[in-house]
Amino acid sequence: MLNVEVLNVSKRYGYQWALRSVTFSVENQGLIAILGPNGAGKSTLLKTLATHVTPTTGVIKVNGLNLHGNMEKFKEKIGFLAHESYLYDELTVKENLLFYASFFSVKESRVEEEIEFFKLGRYSDTQVKKLSHGLRKRAEIARSIIHEPEMLLLDEPFSGLDKESLSFMINYLEMQRGKTIFICSHSFENVEKICERAIYLKNGLLMEDKKL
Ligand code: ADP
Ligand code: MG
Repeated sequence: MLNVEVLNVSKRYGYQWALRSVTFSVENQGLIAILGPNGAGKSTLLKTLATHVTPTTGVIKVNGLNLHGNMEKFKEKIGFLAHESYLYDELTVKENLLFYASFFSVKESRVEEEIEFFKLGRYSDTQVKKLSHGLRKRAEIARSIIHEPEMLLLDEPFSGLDKESLSFMINYLEMQRGKTIFICSHSFENVEKICERAIYLKNGLLMEDKKL
């Protein structure tokens, strides 16, 4: 597990502050929920942890090192499931995973294992645009962990999932206890069953930080 320190992190888009001096730290903890209503700043916080967004002020340290100053080093340690899809519609499930695997020199055999694990075998040669929402999300999770990251960042992983994909996702996350996982959600549902800690944001402010 990684130690993560978020220190006075603020992010401004134009005149809008999406995060306002957010501070918390995570040490030896597995599943952490980031909760709050729409517009609270959850996705911005996750994107900042994923290094896709740089804080306007403040700093994030991972294992004592400045995250945004060492992005190359941390790239292989971080997996990010964004709200929007990173899969290519025209490529098949397998082609997508092989494409992302190639960035990290991940072997084809690992891609095949991953496809089996996520029960995507039947859809391996199906173009992503032809998948249902739940299957696509499963492929998206497979994509985000193809390089076996130590920290996983999941933006609304449960939204719009059918029953089968939802129970798959929950079982999967329960098996990942050794990893540092941040889960953003606008709803407490599903999250409360698996997370050990909840951080509440509202208007970019950290309102509450509690043990579950
Ligand atoms: P949440 O995920 O909790 O719904 P976001 O982090 O997406 O919240 O957004 C927080 C605030 O920042 C919102 O007011 C949103 O409109 C604004 N915001 C987010 N991303 C951008 C962006 N790329 N450009 C401008 N404003 C943004
Ligand atoms: Mg969001």
